[in-house]
Amino acid sequence: MSLLRRAFLRRCAGLAACVAVPAFVRAAGSRMHDDPFRLGVASGSPRPDSVILWTRLLSDPLNAESIDPVPYSVGWEVAEDERFTRIVRRGSTEAHPASAHSVHVNADGLRPDRWYWYRFLLGDAVSPLGRTRTAPADDSMPAGLRFAFASCQNWEHGEYAAHRHIAASAPDLVVFLGDYIYEHGPYTLEHPSSPRRGSQETVTLAQYRARYAQYKSDPSLQASHQAAPWLVTWDDHEVANDYANDRDARLDPLFPARRAAAYQAFYEHMPIRRGHVLAAGANSARLTLHDRINWGRLAQFHLLDTRQYRDYQACQPAHRGGSAIIDASCSALHAADRSLLGWEQERWLEQGLSASPARWNVIAQQTLMAQFGHGHAAPDDSSLRIWNDGWDGYPAARQRLLGSLVKHNTANPLVISGDVHTFYAADLRPDFTRPAARDNPVIATEFCGTSISSSSRAQTRTEQLVAINPHVRYGRSDRRGYVMMELGPKSALATFQALDDVKRADSLAFPIARFMVESGRAGLTPLT
Ligand code: FE
Ligand code: CA
Repeated sequence: MSLLRRAFLRRCAGLAACVAVPAFVRAAGSRMHDDPFRLGVASGSPRPDSVILWTRLLSDPLNAESIDPVPYSVGWEVAEDERFTRIVRRGSTEAHPASAHSVHVNADGLRPDRWYWYRFLLGDAVSPLGRTRTAPADDSMPAGLRFAFASCQNWEHGEYAAHRHIAASAPDLVVFLGDYIYEHGPYTLEHPSSPRRGSQETVTLAQYRARYAQYKSDPSLQASHQAAPWLVTWDDHEVANDYANDRDARLDPLFPARRAAAYQAFYEHMPIRRGHVLAAGANSARLTLHDRINWGRLAQFHLLDTRQYRDYQACQPAHRGGSAIIDASCSALHAADRSLLGWEQERWLEQGLSASPARWNVIAQQTLMAQFGHGHAAPDDSSLRIWNDGWDGYPAARQRLLGSLVKHNTANPLVISGDVHTFYAADLRPDFTRPAARDNPVIATEFCGTSISSSSRAQTRTEQLVAINPHVRYGRSDRRGYVMMELGPKSALATFQALDDVKRADSLAFPIARFMVESGRAGLTPLT
């Protein structure tokens, strides 16, 4: 554990003490001093001619609850070389206190399929250098694409060695699938006015901003952002555990305001496009995250948001939101009008899947899509027990998505997932209960990453569960890490990268499993 993190944990002993620490307050009119770039830099959402550059001015990330009231003019530069002798774009932009001095620059006019360096300037201070790149031209067929994907980085559960390894592997792209922060403190179902929750859980905009600052103070996470552009989506913990649309597990009437604060803080801390604008209105804020990103004709990413628009989890006890393991025989679960993406996003996705010119269609989303029975014996229709927060809780929506892959003959669908803190590799079929049936072919392949740091269940239990879910070909919950994907015109390779010890920032990482998918033939081939 790093000195910084140890010192922070000692002082905080649970976030209660942390949020109570008086923030470092500067007199109005004073200049930002010390190093204003302590949260590092980031880039994301690459297009053939542009990429978003991000930073947030903050000199004391671990005491970040109050905002300096002064706006600052921040310079930025994009160069073709690391020494900035060939600067191709530069400008300045305002970092405003209303957006926590966050900066989003759409650096455009760039050339396709090229690496660039970027930095920010404030007075004499120069930010760390970031390395980023543009996507290849839409009509090109790139020889390859290497991207890492990851999720779930509970700060209190471990170090971010996985991010150090992602940075060192110099991928073209990092895809982050949610749980970038965790909103707790110990999670309880107490009423929101309870002082315990108020002090331990992130609820207000100031608290969410402070939480992002805490996470982003980590040098390995900063290195991962500095290494490549990111595509980001969120899951539940960027707001609150197991929330669905405008409802949280406690049915807190104030939840919409909390969600608005969380969405605002997410926007302020992520390298996402200005087109993704927050709608006005503190209690009804929306943030459009779903997006399509082309990597020439080699790959198209369909980046999804399974939280913001979903129907509530089915078959929960009265007066209780959130999730549970339930009997799949509960009839409300199967209602045809329930959606995980919301109807507008479903239509948008189907249109994209029908029109995609790409060799590989990467459906990048939060949670396990393969059916995953939680019982003790091989599931049939009458004994199946499922977790109602994931795709298993929205079976009609999953059927529609898998059906549209078949209907539109979408080329090589690859589903990538997070959320469940376990490496899984799975073959996706229209009917999970009849894996051997001839009329039930594999139509897509799923890879689920483990977590960067968040803890999981014992491996012995995962092995029992994999044994009763035959379409899930691999499961490993006792290792933290990430997945490295290599796409080429003929095949895709997925390498599950496992950490030796998540408690060590200098932990080694090693490949724990590898799989191949051939173009034109859905399904997994394990490699030894
Ligand atoms: Fe998680
Ligand atoms: Ca989650």
